[in-house]
Amino acid sequence: MLNEILYIFFPKSCGSCNLPLHTFEDGICTACRHSLPEMIFISLVENQMHSIFEEYNIYLASALFNFEKNTEIQELIHNLKYRNQKKLGKIIGQWHGAKLATDMNFTQVDVVLPVPIHIKKLKNRGYNQISNYGAILAKKLNADFNETTLKKTVNTKTQAKHSRQQRFDNMLNSMQIRNPQILENKHVLLVDDVITTGATMKACIECLNQVKGITISIAAMAVTLLEDA
Ligand SMILES: [Zn+2]
Repeated sequence: MLNEILYIFFPKSCGSCNLPLHTFEDGICTACRHSLPEMIFISLVENQMHSIFEEYNIYLASALFNFEKNTEIQELIHNLKYRNQKKLGKIIGQWHGAKLATDMNFTQVDVVLPVPIHIKKLKNRGYNQISNYGAILAKKLNADFNETTLKKTVNTKTQAKHSRQQRFDNMLNSMQIRNPQILENKHVLLVDDVITTGATMKACIECLNQVKGITISIAAMAVTLLEDA
């Protein structure tokens, strides 16, 4: 009853189309749940996402959505990252996790690692937008969730002036791995929100490649699959 009254005065809106949600809907409206550009790679076979990381040895790669600018997906990620709607990470995690849990290769993942954000950014935003998503994926895959081993030690916020190579070098030097031995011989799933050039994830992969016997798989909420990305 109280919920119903609150709802009349403060209707919650869909994280994707921003229209008011019905009381039975959670975070994303039914229409958006049906129309969002779902794109699922669950296969050992090389997929388009692997090709972004062709210089690395990536085992499994999966994204839930196809990312395009000026679409509901951009709005969804924007709401998650900048409008304090961290619950959306949980909802996207449940959606993606349910799909991945049906794949025997993904269920062999030992540890889920979110791409780290710098402490300064964490303080400004109040949360790492990937934490909820990663934690739910870990739960669905019966894996551990670890957001302390991989650290971002330098804030690489304003990089627009630098060349792509410089930006990547800076990014690479900004990542650190602590207690790498706990990841030895483990299958890790590195997760991020959106992958475009893949630079951030590549910096993490370079770090993780120092760990003995590690197997690296990746997952993202959304991926951009442009030829020149
Ligand atoms: Zn909607």
